[in-house]
Amino acid sequence: MVKYIFVTGGVVSSIGKGIAAASLGRLLRNRGFTVAPMKLDPYINVDAGTMNPYQHGEVFVTEDGAETDLDLGHYERFIDVNCSSLSSVTTGKVYRAVIEAERRGDYLGGTVQVIPHVTNEIKRSIVEVGERTSADVVLAEIGGTVGDIESLPFLEAIRQMRKDVGWQHTLFVHVTLVPTVGPWREIKTKPTQHSVHKLREIGITPDVLVCRSEAPIPPDVKEKISLFCDVPTQAIVESLNAETIYEVPLVYEDAGLGEFVADRLGLEKREPSMGEWRKLVKILKSPKRECRIAVVGKYTSNGDAYKSIGEALVHAGIPNDARVRVEWIESDSLESGVSPADALAGMDGLVVAPGFGGRGIEGKIQAIRHARETGLPFLGICLGLQMAVIEFARNVCGLLGANSEEMDEETPHPVIHLLPEQKHVKAKGATMRLGSYPCNLVHGTKAAKLYGANRIAERHRHRYEVNNDYRETLIQHGMVVSGVSPDYRLVEMIELPSHPFFLATQAHPEFRSRPNRPHPLFRGLVAAALERRAQQSASRK
Ligand code: GLN
Repeated sequence: MVKYIFVTGGVVSSIGKGIAAASLGRLLRNRGFTVAPMKLDPYINVDAGTMNPYQHGEVFVTEDGAETDLDLGHYERFIDVNCSSLSSVTTGKVYRAVIEAERRGDYLGGTVQVIPHVTNEIKRSIVEVGERTSADVVLAEIGGTVGDIESLPFLEAIRQMRKDVGWQHTLFVHVTLVPTVGPWREIKTKPTQHSVHKLREIGITPDVLVCRSEAPIPPDVKEKISLFCDVPTQAIVESLNAETIYEVPLVYEDAGLGEFVADRLGLEKREPSMGEWRKLVKILKSPKRECRIAVVGKYTSNGDAYKSIGEALVHAGIPNDARVRVEWIESDSLESGVSPADALAGMDGLVVAPGFGGRGIEGKIQAIRHARETGLPFLGICLGLQMAVIEFARNVCGLLGANSEEMDEETPHPVIHLLPEQKHVKAKGATMRLGSYPCNLVHGTKAAKLYGANRIAERHRHRYEVNNDYRETLIQHGMVVSGVSPDYRLVEMIELPSHPFFLATQAHPEFRSRPNRPHPLFRGLVAAALERRAQQSASRK
């Protein structure tokens, strides 16, 4: 019998439901249970692909090419599972299915309504995840904050789920805020009480409360929350700000949450294996070394816009026993007077981030030129590869005005151009080259050595590619095409053998990095950055 855990959030948005759900998933995974995470998002977009990263943060891409909410990234990283398009359900997707069914005549004669048609479709998508994955537990996070109009059909659907599958197979976790206010930093439970009241109005009584708080919650305050909210004190988990997000599962486990949840759901009693996770958290908290990596991108003012890149860099520090300090640099700033040498002073490595459109690309190109000329370790991701090719074409191959057709349709040297299969694509939603594609690595290249394999697969999200008319010119001037699609048509990876670490990929390796399995390319970048730092400090002595 599949178990269902539903995670809701109260009081404020951005309360950390994603991390809470992912951490709980890790506790079950540590007990050997299989977990299928999913996110139910109230917005009307069919998927996150058309949303601006400024507003919504990163668009996370799954193996099967769904453009989803960044919380799926947390699930994959914490639980070490691959999500799929089924793991992401939005109001847009639900309504589209219902309306298509209505047009087909599936409800012939009926009046189509939120209850039961929309709620049935939501329930169907939740059950489908369990059926398709055969997981022991489906862990579903409901986006938004309890009290929002938009999330009501989702909350109604999960309320019905308890009736459908039974109390013993469903668990409601509510993540809430317990703020401290006033000059004496008094802990206040009222917002939590209100939020739980709101949930109970809808017919949902939470089984577990995860209380985000800045100060430890004393036992009498827990008693009070318990009394007002009908949740036993052992199911009230205090969640203070952790030094690293990867510590949260340990905090929950030590608070007894893993055992409580397993017990409550009637899952077999198993000893959790926490060793690997404790070890990696220990390194994250007190590593021996440190390095600084700059990420140049155009949405850096939203800390979530490049979430997976930031996390992949942090993961890459673990096997190197190093803390990776990520410094975000707005690419625009490199176009308005700040020299790349100044902007990148003190950095041990550079990542040029993915992106769309022309803004800030000359800044990215400047940064790449600086890295290429000074031996600064460099990793280019997607647009980062395209910019590295443009920089090389202009400044090494002498192709003046080389550019991407995306930025300049009139460029004399379109070294980056539209993928042929994109030529007739007009619609913007889910039409890019998306998801996992294979890539052959050339023997003896840095890429092949880092991966330790000749054939790999990575997730993609792009419309443009390296123009093969320029492939020979690039190669003649010293660029190595280290990865190609199996049909040899598409340049997937490039590198410069004359440089300590200069590598770029058309794919998004950041989506596959996990704390317990850091990605080889990020790992390589961080190792090169540490080496450079060591050399520089030796030469200063
Ligand atoms: N805009 C570029 C393209 O569509 C790069 C995309 C990206 O960086 N994800 O090909």
